[in-house]
Amino acid sequence: MKQAVFLILLFCLLYPAIFAQKHGQTTQTDNIAWSGEERLAKAHFTQYKLGANYQLPDVQNYLYQTIGNLQTSGAGLQFTGKTESPVGAHFHFVQTYRNMPVYGTQILITIDKTGTTGPITENTYALDLPLLKTLFPDKAQINETAMVNRFAAENKVKPEWPAAMQLFFITENQPVIAVQFKGWTLENRGFFEYLTDTSGQLIYRRDLQNYFGPKKSTQTETVPAQIFNPNPVTTAHVVYGQGGKYKDNNDADAPELTAELKNTTIEVTYEDGLYKLENAYAKIAEFDNPVILPVTTTLPQFNFTRSDDGFEDVNAFYHVNAFQQYLQSLGFTLVQTQVLIDTHGKNGQDQSLHIYNNGNHQLIFGSGHSVGIEHVDDAEDADVIVHEYGHAVSASACPNCNSGLERTAIDEAICDYLATSYKRAINDYNWQNMFSWDGHNEFWNGRNVTSTKHYPEDNKLDIYYRSEIFSSVLMQIWDAVGKEAADKIVISALYQFSSGISMETAANILLYVDNQLYGGQHVQTLQSLLQQRGLLEYQANAGPDFEVCLGNTVILGVPNAPPAPEGVNMYWSPGLTLNDSTLANPTANPDRPTVYTLYLVDKVSNIAYTDDAFVDVQYCFNNPPGNEIRLLNTDRFFKRRGNIILEVPPGTEQVKVAIYDALGRFVKAITNAGDMRLEVSGDDMPPGIYHMVVEADGKKATFTIGRVR
Ligand SMILES: [Zn+2]
Repeated sequence: MKQAVFLILLFCLLYPAIFAQKHGQTTQTDNIAWSGEERLAKAHFTQYKLGANYQLPDVQNYLYQTIGNLQTSGAGLQFTGKTESPVGAHFHFVQTYRNMPVYGTQILITIDKTGTTGPITENTYALDLPLLKTLFPDKAQINETAMVNRFAAENKVKPEWPAAMQLFFITENQPVIAVQFKGWTLENRGFFEYLTDTSGQLIYRRDLQNYFGPKKSTQTETVPAQIFNPNPVTTAHVVYGQGGKYKDNNDADAPELTAELKNTTIEVTYEDGLYKLENAYAKIAEFDNPVILPVTTTLPQFNFTRSDDGFEDVNAFYHVNAFQQYLQSLGFTLVQTQVLIDTHGKNGQDQSLHIYNNGNHQLIFGSGHSVGIEHVDDAEDADVIVHEYGHAVSASACPNCNSGLERTAIDEAICDYLATSYKRAINDYNWQNMFSWDGHNEFWNGRNVTSTKHYPEDNKLDIYYRSEIFSSVLMQIWDAVGKEAADKIVISALYQFSSGISMETAANILLYVDNQLYGGQHVQTLQSLLQQRGLLEYQANAGPDFEVCLGNTVILGVPNAPPAPEGVNMYWSPGLTLNDSTLANPTANPDRPTVYTLYLVDKVSNIAYTDDAFVDVQYCFNNPPGNEIRLLNTDRFFKRRGNIILEVPPGTEQVKVAIYDALGRFVKAITNAGDMRLEVSGDDMPPGIYHMVVEADGKKATFTIGRVR
């Protein structure tokens, strides 16, 4: 019984404070009061045909019709960008009020390749417009440049120009007009977004951690290199420290670790007599302490052992490129900019992160042999590398989408999933240990992607703790549908993972994507696994499939099915051959094989949870035992490919045939002399069920026959 979910409206948390995602410890935020941190976002699953030649205004008009918060005077939409995936196009907007953006809002809609609308996720505000109109002019009459300069001088900030923009910022209590700009802190070269009120008082600040990427190089050569693939304990089929070996030992070489080095090739740049770890997709660089310059060579090879600083450079460079090539093989064009990678950063802490701003991506990996800090170098483990690159993949599919308390946990789960999928295809030993080499050791426990954590009980306020709910169900999907289909579904779904969505919304987007990419081939499997995790609210159960004889009836649904839950409307479709399509157990009287779909439609959200029951209709040869009157060729007659042949006992003198429809109305009669075979043609009989009464001298028999549509 195939199941599908089409529509959903769910609420969740939103806050845009985090741009840097660390793979391990708690993420720091830098918030001052803002109402958006725990705000609810909504999803609308729609199916409206805009047509193949739709234009941007058609999309905007549809959003105005669909989103109530856009229908009041003064409310508007501002288009901010578009991405494309195997599913279709994804349009990004922010909400505006009197042509000023409303801070932190995001509206994202998917339009599939046929021009039909799909999910809309949005966190718009219901603005109290009369109140706002009284409180605020259209724009504050202030000198923004002077105000920003004054703020910058007082706070030791170097502003980025062109800078200031006025927008609406919704505080805990009321909306205010704010001035937004970006700037570098002079002391520790941090990069922040600032919002002040119109008098220049700071309202809100968030860390953007931006660094600007250089031009990309295209002059490349393919050279040999040594890497861990994916890491030494996985390929050696051991656990960390097994037999007193396979330990970090302060980054020292050891024979058992050197034995796990794998030979490969990498595409590098040759410039000014040096080979450099740089190509169109990645560049090893120095931009975060400690200062350890990127490795270069004069010979065309990068064969290092783990004690060399160059080894981490090569290992990160290889795995980022390998994952990018895999994305391309699946048909995705993501992270097409050159990612900057510092494999010895975070002042040696056991922490790695991804930074994204204005389309530039950077990855920083903690190195584990600074003074007083010991742990495995993060860039020695493909799990860490692909996890951090996964954040770049996510930000490329859905720019500025990773905010909201639950949404950020989903991003961690996606990155753990991508890393595990990548690793498991290379070597599946202990694949459930996320961060197999970097974690699961004396320094850090790592994470587990075969967790039994359940939603919502385990949806606690720790993004890494609760991320295991989602990463673990994704790995179950991986098991059930295979790596390639699972990867394609998960990565395609990312394009619709806008700010503030919940895990429940994300689960429904996965189902939408499977319907789009695979015609719903895996929907039953996905729905069942997601339901077990607590990520789908209702479940439709259409009960067993049936085989019936033509003319017989069958009762659909789970025997003695409970009534529909309060919040949903329930019906079966098609209803034509049912006694009452709104019953939990309707009586079906199909005249041909029929798929009946049970719908549970959430009254508030319009989400439809569905399940199918198939009723196969057989022609049953219902000759009573001992009866000498027989029908032949009934199956072909049923399928409208031939006539029924009637056989009667030898020596019969007269045969009378009368045919009635399902309601007992006379259709036609045939009379035949003698015991010759008699043919009954159905050419003049519309599709349906009939009763055929045969009299052969004194003997009588009744048959049910039918013609399919
Ligand atoms: Zn992460």
